[in-house]
Amino acid sequence: MDLTRISLVELRDAIAAKKLGAEEAARGYLQRIEKLNARLHAYHEVYADRALARARAVDNGEITGPLAGVPLALKDNLCTDWGHTTCSSKMLANYQSPFTGTAVAKLEQAGAICLGKTVLDEFAMGSSTENSAVGPVRNPWNTDCVPGGSSGGSAAAMAADLCAGALGSDTGGSIRQPAALCGIVGLKPTYGRVSRWGLVAFGSSLDQIGPFGHTVADVALLLRTIAGVDPHDSTSVDQPVPDYVAQLDRKPDQLRIGLAKQYLSDANHPAVAKAIDDAVKIFQSAGAEIVQVDLPHTEYGIPTYYIVATAEASSNLARYDGVHYGHRAAQCDDLTDLYAASRAEGFGDEVKRRIMLGTYALSSGYFDAFYLRALKVRRLIKNDLDAAFARCDAILCPTTTGPAFRFGDKAGDPLAMYLNDIYTVNANLAGIPGISVPAGLADGLPVAIQLFGPLFDEPRLLRIARLYEQATGHGKLRPSI
Ligand code: GLN
Repeated sequence: MDLTRISLVELRDAIAAKKLGAEEAARGYLQRIEKLNARLHAYHEVYADRALARARAVDNGEITGPLAGVPLALKDNLCTDWGHTTCSSKMLANYQSPFTGTAVAKLEQAGAICLGKTVLDEFAMGSSTENSAVGPVRNPWNTDCVPGGSSGGSAAAMAADLCAGALGSDTGGSIRQPAALCGIVGLKPTYGRVSRWGLVAFGSSLDQIGPFGHTVADVALLLRTIAGVDPHDSTSVDQPVPDYVAQLDRKPDQLRIGLAKQYLSDANHPAVAKAIDDAVKIFQSAGAEIVQVDLPHTEYGIPTYYIVATAEASSNLARYDGVHYGHRAAQCDDLTDLYAASRAEGFGDEVKRRIMLGTYALSSGYFDAFYLRALKVRRLIKNDLDAAFARCDAILCPTTTGPAFRFGDKAGDPLAMYLNDIYTVNANLAGIPGISVPAGLADGLPVAIQLFGPLFDEPRLLRIARLYEQATGHGKLRPSI
């Protein structure tokens, strides 16, 4: 069976029907990793023995479940009680988590097999995976280009079929943006839909774990498995988990698609602008009404996000002090010196920049002017979206302004890098779900459309995304690596 041509759902069905052994599938992916990972650097750590042992347990019936035998990749900021959880940081280079986080535990309980951990921008801070302390990830469509970030390793592994599905985390776009640049589907669920227990915290009011897949059905199946309330995460929401998969083919009734001028800038690459125009036609021919909505505070998304996210990061990353966790500097004179030297050695430049920005925004005398004001603008952004969703079922917009850029193009200019997130951060600020779906190629590189939905409306969002996917077939394109 050709592992580079099938979806997660097809693979799962083949294993369940015993047309394909779970061990055979795991070996197939491990061989592809062996062959391609040196070029792509998507995986930081691979658990071949553990994966094969679990695959054999699937084949002999000891492990069962709706994902039995499905090989997955995990972003390396998801805690597992095996292997390392490094966040692609020198700070956690040798860290072994004493526990497995909820989302990963649920996948394993459903029978999935974790092939390995994937490279990210250090502590999930970045949009290109160039901030990784273990080296960048390459885009399978063009290895001179970035795969996006921060979940670049998971997206590249997925796009190159080094796994059948993957998890990432999205604080300001880190699932959707790399999904767009790698030509796969990526979903950021509603804040609170998936437990964050076992996700290394970056911006706790923004972070959400979510799936990557080749198809909308694949991400629906993964979401169904990982969603739900969790006593370990007080921000997880106690709402029933719908059967996202079973509802996929229900025709969306009276579909209204919102378009906001704030997302249709002249700065968009022509292929992105065309993708949006084409999507409008597709939705119209499916009977949808196109509604103009206004999101006047959109332009404040980036400054607001980079205050809230850095403020939360500065607080979350205070725990890495050389005493409790991670890297400890040798030969220090006193405790203060130990803190300073351990943090100076353990964190990379971008993480330090975020800690400094966040500490500044939270410090006495500046708190009201920056952090408090950012929270107020965050509310205005959310109010805009709430008002828009009173008039439409989903908002259609680009995921990124253009296709993947080349290594080094933005690495020296933090502001240019931050502007990458212009179309993704507002979903995190408002807590709403967002999905990126492949929209074809521009000069051999993928572009994408994005759809936002109201809080907890993933069933309809996935149906709308599926309608688009089936009308276009772009998701079937694969890089010739
Ligand atoms: N690129 C954004 C940032 O650098 C988003 C990161 C993320 O979603 N983890 O903060």
